[in-house]
Amino acid sequence: MRRNGSKKRVLPWKKKVYDTGYENGYLNLSCPLHQIFYILASLFLILFFSSQINAAEDRFVSARGKMVKNDLKGRDITDPKVLEIMGRVERHRFVDKHLQSVAYADHPLPIDEGQTISQPYIVALMTQILKLKPDEKVLEIGTGSGYQAAVLSEITNTVYSIEIRKNLAEKADTRLKELGYGNVKVKAADGYFGWEEYAPFDVIIITCAANHIPPPLTKQLKEGGRLIIPLGSTTYYQTLTLITKIKGELDVQHLTGVAFVPMVGEAQKGRER
Ligand code: SAH
Repeated sequence: MRRNGSKKRVLPWKKKVYDTGYENGYLNLSCPLHQIFYILASLFLILFFSSQINAAEDRFVSARGKMVKNDLKGRDITDPKVLEIMGRVERHRFVDKHLQSVAYADHPLPIDEGQTISQPYIVALMTQILKLKPDEKVLEIGTGSGYQAAVLSEITNTVYSIEIRKNLAEKADTRLKELGYGNVKVKAADGYFGWEEYAPFDVIIITCAANHIPPPLTKQLKEGGRLIIPLGSTTYYQTLTLITKIKGELDVQHLTGVAFVPMVGEAQKGRER
């Protein structure tokens, strides 16, 4: 019989494998207890982070609802389709992370290269004025973040958008595809010249300010088509202007005061001439 003091010899094949649960200081995940601990800890972390994400998403849903109620319905946006779309398109996905908490505020926000994503009310107003129909083809000049294009693409399947700043065009194109707006075709070019390949357009929306209407754009507008443009000084305020092509003539309606970033490129050369 072995007593205290006598060294217990353990035969190698009888060695207990799970005695400490640690091997060389590391957690031994072949230990059932540690496996349970590991699974529970992972579950806890998953639940914790998904509840945080859900809380953030809920905040965006509620902010969007308030924006529709106060800033759109509270003004003169009455088109139910426009209101429904504005309540659905996630504007916070079109701005940088640090601006997401103010994505539904009643003002424009900076995007890259000194440009801006328009105020939600202005996006809704321009969309409402254009009375776009599902079978109509629309051209946007000034893709910027891609937000206005996303809103338009909820009405019609054929949205073409031109952005003069290559980086912005690429970023918006990637973002729109990631968000599932595969029906927006983006091109990096000077929108002054329109997009001849896909002309004529039922609707042309210009989201940068010019002091004249680029003639190639009115040429690419269909008979009965509508074009909207912030027209006037490119350094201060402009007048949101609606042009309708009626029997080849342009019917001009001046609507309201707005402030957009300038159309650059050929439009500015025109000003210098
Ligand atoms: N519609 C955009 C906001 C437009 S900001 C949105 O929803 O986010 C105006 C954009 O017009 C800027 O990105 C600017 O780079 C672009 N722009 C300026 N001049 C242009 C031109 N000649 N052709 C195409 N885009 C132009």
